[in-house]
Amino acid sequence: MSRPAIFFDRDGVLIESIVREGKPFAATMRSEVKFIASAASVCAHFKSAGFILIMFTNQPDVARKKANAAEVLQINEMVKHELHLDGYYCCTHDDVDRCECRKPLPGMLKMGERDFDIDLTKSFVIGDRTKDMQAGKAVGATTIFIDYGYRGESEGQAVGRDFVVKSLHEVVKIITKIE
Ligand SMILES: [Mg+2]
Ligand SMILES: [Zn+2]
Repeated sequence: MSRPAIFFDRDGVLIESIVREGKPFAATMRSEVKFIASAASVCAHFKSAGFILIMFTNQPDVARKKANAAEVLQINEMVKHELHLDGYYCCTHDDVDRCECRKPLPGMLKMGERDFDIDLTKSFVIGDRTKDMQAGKAVGATTIFIDYGYRGESEGQAVGRDFVVKSLHEVVKIITKIE
């Protein structure tokens, strides 16, 4: 039987984004990785509640040659290992590649559906960018937007969000109420 999943964006959701001039950037080296304070407890909570835990992340800096592919892979593996995730998907493409995995497209969510037998309509997508929300809505998932007040990403502009919170630990209350 299909199971529900929680799809977590990586930067700003499980690990800290590096914010410069009000805009978030991805960590590109392991030495820059700092876990969000509540990430371990939130993941443990949902794992024991029966959810499949998946990270899905855009890392276009690989295509742009601003980040090293091997280093990005090692960051992803580290996050998966530390938080006991079931899996992750990482789009390393840029817009010009016209792939199907780059958010806002829902390609990575569909891969998860297939690989882990996930019921997407009973699943949740947690992100801090509008593109995370759009990907989730495209497959009928419930979306939760973490509003850090980034430039151009504030609450009113987050298209497709079902819920808005200010920090990761608040999603526990929301999801526990719905499912
Ligand atoms: Mg993010
Ligand atoms: Zn891609």
